[in-house]
Amino acid sequence: MTKEKSLQGVEAEGADRCPECGSKDLVKRGNEIYCRKCGYVIE
Ligand SMILES: [Zn+2]
Repeated sequence: MTKEKSLQGVEAEGADRCPECGSKDLVKRGNEIYCRKCGYVIE
């Protein structure tokens, strides 16, 4: 499994910020990662 730095196209694993609002306040729950700020579910 290779991990590349990308400036865009971040999703699911490797995502450390919300694509919607840009917040880093993400919460992992089970297999889901969601933003606590806007509620956007990344995966
Ligand atoms: Zn958000």
